Amino acid sequence: MSDAKLQSVLSSLSKVHRQLDSLPSSPAPDAKYVKLNTNENPFALPEAVMESAVAALERQYLYPEDNNTSLRKAAAASYDLSTDQVIAGNGSSELLSLIYKAFLDPGDSVAMLSPGFAFNHKLALLQGARLLEIKWGEACLLPMHKLLFGPAKEAKFILLANPNNPTGTFVPIADIESLVAQSDRLIVLDEAYVDFAPDSALRLIDRYSNLLILRTFSKSYAAAGIRIGFGLGHPEVIGRLRNIQNMFNMNVIGHAVGVSILAHRAAYDENHSHIKYERERVSVALSQLGFSVTPSHANFLLARVPAGRDGTWWHACLKRRKILVAVLPDDGLEDCIRVSIGTKPQMDALLAAVEDILGVQTFR
Ligand SMILES: *Cc1c(COP(=O)(O)O)cnc(C)c1O
Repeated sequence: MSDAKLQSVLSSLSKVHRQLDSLPSSPAPDAKYVKLNTNENPFALPEAVMESAVAALERQYLYPEDNNTSLRKAAAASYDLSTDQVIAGNGSSELLSLIYKAFLDPGDSVAMLSPGFAFNHKLALLQGARLLEIKWGEACLLPMHKLLFGPAKEAKFILLANPNNPTGTFVPIADIESLVAQSDRLIVLDEAYVDFAPDSALRLIDRYSNLLILRTFSKSYAAAGIRIGFGLGHPEVIGRLRNIQNMFNMNVIGHAVGVSILAHRAAYDENHSHIKYERERVSVALSQLGFSVTPSHANFLLARVPAGRDGTWWHACLKRRKILVAVLPDDGLEDCIRVSIGTKPQMDALLAAVEDILGVQTFR
C-alpha cells in the first residue's frame, strides 16, 4: 500500500487503543542464549505426556472438542471440583483477558497488588479501565486495610498472584482467606507458581463464591508453548467467562497434553524438587556475590544487584555473555533483575557470567 493510502486507512480505524504503540518486529529467539527471562521450565515432558501429544496429531483434521469438555472434566476430577467450576484457556493469560472483557465497562476500575504481573496494564488499557496499583504491605504481606477500605473498595475485582510475580513472595492462605471472606469484591487469585509453593487456596473455592483462581501448565508443567490454563471458581462466575470465550480456543494437542499432564502430575515431582533445590543454591551463591535476593516460592529469583549499577546494566552485561534475564524498571525495581530457575548447567552458566562480570574468581 502506498504510504498515503496506508495513512488514510489507519486514520479511518478506531483509535481507542492509541496509547498502545504498534508492536516492534522482534527478532526470532536465538537458541544460543540461556533463556532465564520468562520463567519457562526447560525440561522435556514426561514420556507418557509426549506420547499423548504425538497421538493427538492424528486428529489434526478435526476441530478440537467443543467447550474443552474432556479437559475440564479431567481438571475438575484432579482438583475435586465439578466441571462447571472449571474453564480451560489457551494459557491463563487468555482467561485473564476474558475476565477483563466479561466484568468491566469502560471507566470501571480494577485493583492489582503491585508490583504485579505487567500484562494487566495492557488489559486494563484495552478495556478502558483504570488499574489501581495497591502496594504490597510490609514484608510483602497483604495490605488488608487498603484492600477492604481504601480505593480498592471501588474496584470491580482485585487481582493478586500467590506466589507473586515478580517478587516470588508467598502470602499464607489464612491471609488470602481473610481477604476473600471480608471483601465483597471478586478476588482473582493467580496461582501460576503454586506448585513451587508450600500451599494453595484451592480448598477455599467451595466456601467463597467471590474467589476465582487461575492456574497454568506453562511454568510448573513445562508446557508454555502448548498453552494450557484454567480458571477455577463459582459456576456462575465461570459460566459468564465461558459464555464470551472464543470457540475452539484450544487445539487438539493442548487438550491431549492437558489431560495427560493431569493424569501424570506425580511425574513432575523430581522437576519441582530440582527447581526448589537450584533456587536455594543460586540464591545463596548470588547473595555471596553481593546480590540481595528475595526469598522465593516460585521458579525465579528477584535479586537486587550490587550497589553502583542498575538492573538494566546487568541485563546488558549478561546478554553479551548470552544470558537473558528480566528487568523490571516499570515496577520501581530498577535495581533488580529477575532470574528464572532452569537446569543446573544453565544456572552454572549464569553464576559464571556474574563472576566474570564482577571480576571475581571463586572455586565452585
Ligand atoms: C507466566 C504467568 C502467567 C501466564 O501464564 P500462561 O498460562 O502461559 O498464559 C500468568 N500469571 C502470572 C503471574 C505469570 O507469571
